[in-house]
Amino acid sequence: MRHRPALSPPPMRNDCFALPAGVDWIPVETALAHLKSAVSVQSGVETLPLVRARGRILAQDVQALTSHPPHANTAVDGYGFAGGRGEGVHHLPLANARAAAGQAPKALPQGHAMRILTGAVLPQGVDTVVLQEDVTTDGQHIAFQGPIKRGSNTRRAGEDVIAGDVILTEGRLITPADLGLAATVGLGTLPMRKQLRVGVLSTGEELVQAGGKTRPGQIYDANRPMLLSMIEAWGMRAVDLGHVGDDRSDLRARFNQAAAQCDVIITSGGASAGDEDHVSALLCETGSMQLWRIAVKPGRPLALGMWQGAPVFGLPGNPVAAFVCTLIFARPALMTMAGAGWLEPEPLMLPAAFAKNKKPGRREYLRARLDGGRVQRFTSEGSGRISGLSWATGLVELPHEGAIINEGDLVRYLPFAGFGL
Ligand code: AMP
Ligand code: MG
Repeated sequence: MRHRPALSPPPMRNDCFALPAGVDWIPVETALAHLKSAVSVQSGVETLPLVRARGRILAQDVQALTSHPPHANTAVDGYGFAGGRGEGVHHLPLANARAAAGQAPKALPQGHAMRILTGAVLPQGVDTVVLQEDVTTDGQHIAFQGPIKRGSNTRRAGEDVIAGDVILTEGRLITPADLGLAATVGLGTLPMRKQLRVGVLSTGEELVQAGGKTRPGQIYDANRPMLLSMIEAWGMRAVDLGHVGDDRSDLRARFNQAAAQCDVIITSGGASAGDEDHVSALLCETGSMQLWRIAVKPGRPLALGMWQGAPVFGLPGNPVAAFVCTLIFARPALMTMAGAGWLEPEPLMLPAAFAKNKKPGRREYLRARLDGGRVQRFTSEGSGRISGLSWATGLVELPHEGAIINEGDLVRYLPFAGFGL
């Protein structure tokens, strides 16, 4: 029998971004549905100590090792005894014993009460605790007013979590509270997805690295710091692939390098079908290139393709369009590849602080911010106005269809926080 080599197929097919023939301007919804079906998990699994897991993605369901609380205990400082008591005044003799947190408890003789402090395991013979503020004592006896129900001021073993319960599910983005929960139920490490390595490359002859010296005709590369920081905010590993001019062979060399280092490549600029649109031209050579003309504003065509097994997202160069396309299209795709599944933000329906007559035929995203419970839009919809991105705290999403929006009408507001920013 021939030995089968340990080969596995490329995770994504070369033609995975192909759209049905005859599609022209595709609605955002259709584009998202195609993208969703094209992408799959690309990240392996590693075990991380709790303190390194925040903001990362859980790779498997995780079960509690111990119950919480592990033992019945008292929720307050007070006096413990057995059974509840009805209306009226009650006197109990005090046992010469004390239960404090962290100690193994001794049993309480019947008919007695004992001093007990918050967090102490309930001794045998104690199932009820009366608050110390509700008690008078002479050191020998206690007196208190009823009624008090059996079980008052105590916590049952396992009332929060039972050993074996699934506490966190696969794909979850781990929060600080999750780490508290995981530690509580006995876990010291978590099975996490390895970080998706996302390369970010800027293209365009006119670009100069932030802080550098410009010559006439040159502008600063805004997209790279912006996109790299978004990738980092999403718990992925941002790989700075630098900048290349409008030169096909430079770009090819950089793509080769990138494919060796990254799971995904994000480029900005040069993604349309013009003479200097080298990203799309290069991707065409692979046979995988798809120019998605999405009916969205801001945003122009999105170039999608594969380079040596790595999916490439060719974003428009315009920073506002690059930002919006990254949030709406790249983020759910990257999150899926990273193992978190297709994540879309929960919109808030809030009254508009503006009026607008929106034409039909494309979805629009307005830079917006909250203003006294209403949503205000940026003064200009000009997609060159990057200051509006910085001013905004989110986006207003307007439907593909036409719409007349009056002040006070409810609009879909997508806070940047909902995109993990
Ligand atoms: P392109 O998509 O290459 O046609 O670029 C569209 C517009 O975005 C042009 O005005 C570019 O100069 C500008 N642009 C492209 N890349 C960047 C970038 N990284 N930072 C700032 N502006 C850019
Ligand atoms: Mg360009």
